[in-house]
Amino acid sequence: MRKQIAAANWKMNLNLQQADDLLNEIVSKNIQLSEDQQAVFAVPFPYLLLTKEKIKNSKNFFVAAQNCYTQESGAFTGEVSAAMLSSIGIEYVIIGHSERREYFSEDNQILAQKVDVCLKNNLKAIFCCGESLEIREKGSQNQFVENQLKETLFHLEASAISGFVIAYEPIWAIGTGKTATAEEAQEMHAYVRNVFAEKYGNDVAQSISILYGGSVKANNAKEIFGKPDVDGGLVGGASLNGNEFSEIIQSLKS
Ligand code: PEP
Repeated sequence: MRKQIAAANWKMNLNLQQADDLLNEIVSKNIQLSEDQQAVFAVPFPYLLLTKEKIKNSKNFFVAAQNCYTQESGAFTGEVSAAMLSSIGIEYVIIGHSERREYFSEDNQILAQKVDVCLKNNLKAIFCCGESLEIREKGSQNQFVENQLKETLFHLEASAISGFVIAYEPIWAIGTGKTATAEEAQEMHAYVRNVFAEKYGNDVAQSISILYGGSVKANNAKEIFGKPDVDGGLVGGASLNGNEFSEIIQSLKS
């Protein structure tokens, strides 16, 4: 089975004490994950090493950064490189979150560069795509998401795409409490998988983990994750609550 992943996106939340408390709470539940299940914590940069230390005895728990810069090193005050993240043992980086696209003007060309720099530094990208409400209401979400993927990932070899992680996050469902239905999620995930199948073949497409993001909570995770092409979730708000996120991790397919 391809990887089933529950990824927490803390965004720009929590102070050090709160971060410490939340990690302690989740780790103390001693959640047992199978070989194909993963819990990933995308925490603010200052908490990366703390998080690594806290989860070191939890099997299949990983740490993610929420962003990295396009360049390897140099005079880019305030930025963090993929090489730096790799050097401290980080495994994943969220690339292309809609908040980065919207507030930091990250376009598909910049995101393609970020994906490349992650791969070069042995970091796995959790690559986000998804349409706005306006696009969904026009009914052009499939074409829009397909273009996002083509412009950012289709320059990659099949070997790089194999086992890749995509997060489909309809923007209208992020932080709004309005989630896509499990059927809507499944429909888009199947479409995305087919986009990859057409370019890279079915084996590669079947190896890609496609996470759903947008107001996932403990009370809807099982239904959404239960759909055949939904391989877990990228979770914002609910990942800041230890009980909620623990239940979400335990809702992964096994
Ligand atoms: C996200 O931050 O990627 C997200 C999906 O947020 P939320 O779960 O709060 O909608």
